[in-house]
Amino acid sequence: MRIDLHAHSTASDGTSTPAELVGEAAAAGLDVLGLTDHDTTGGWEPAFAARPEGLAIVPGAELSLRWHGGARPIGLHMLAYLFDPADPALSAALARVRSSRETRAERMVDLLAADGIDVTWDEVLQDASGGTVGRPHVAQALIRRGLVGTVTEAFRPEWLGARYRVPKEDLEVFEGLRLILGAGGVPVFAHPRASVRGPIVPDSLIVELAAAGLFGLEADHTDHNPREQAEMHALADRLGLVTTGSSDYHGTNKTVRLGARTTSPEVLAKIVAAGRGSEVVGG
Ligand code: AMP
Ligand code: ZN
Ligand code: FE
Ligand code: FE
Repeated sequence: MRIDLHAHSTASDGTSTPAELVGEAAAAGLDVLGLTDHDTTGGWEPAFAARPEGLAIVPGAELSLRWHGGARPIGLHMLAYLFDPADPALSAALARVRSSRETRAERMVDLLAADGIDVTWDEVLQDASGGTVGRPHVAQALIRRGLVGTVTEAFRPEWLGARYRVPKEDLEVFEGLRLILGAGGVPVFAHPRASVRGPIVPDSLIVELAAAGLFGLEADHTDHNPREQAEMHALADRLGLVTTGSSDYHGTNKTVRLGARTTSPEVLAKIVAAGRGSEVVGG
């Protein structure tokens, strides 16, 4: 069984439509795919409708959260599986985050324009095609202008990494956890120790999150070095959390391939047993 529990489609900042994504997952030899677009469930129905025979889809999302307990606020990503997409509190919160992402991307376009870089909000919005807007969409506009060669280059500090970066209004981390649990979902902390991406939260927060209902840590992720990966396995063992592995596939916006990291069938069974808001589709 090959199980990849973290992938993005054009419903957020991936480059494959949900229908294309499930086809690619089957072609990559996966048996189970987690669909986890940023702050949206918009890809669920088109993915289900296009599901190839033999592929199971675990519906999910990756929530943009923020921890305010340190010297500076730290953003973090929380995967949520098998929650009720119609839960009023959670869906309203996701809608607020998506709306704030649009305001914030528009401000980034304004900052670029003020420096004479003529990317337009219209083209960014068009590239997002109705899905959750993210910095990769602004990055694509910079690529079209020939200002950078790749999305990774666009994330350097002189571009969207710092100079033109505007923060978005993420959910407070414990509030996000409560919303996921309240919607019957299973929360798994995405790439919790990925220091390459920026500041990381301390173990003490993960201890508190575990006490508040966190279910697992995505220990096996290509943004973790071997030491970080080992630390997350050890912490999960100590706290009684499951560990997952996944690719965090973004199509051509990143170089990682589907199935680059995988989750064990035993852990998937635990996640499925804990999820109460929606069901695995197919497989
Ligand atoms: P945003 O959510 O709008 O703040 O943009 C961050 C998203 O861009 C995340 O989902 C990342 O997966 C993606 N991302 C972050 N850093 C990079 C990078 N260096 N190269 C490609 N994609 C990135
Ligand atoms: Zn992303
Ligand atoms: Fe993430
Ligand atoms: Fe992701």
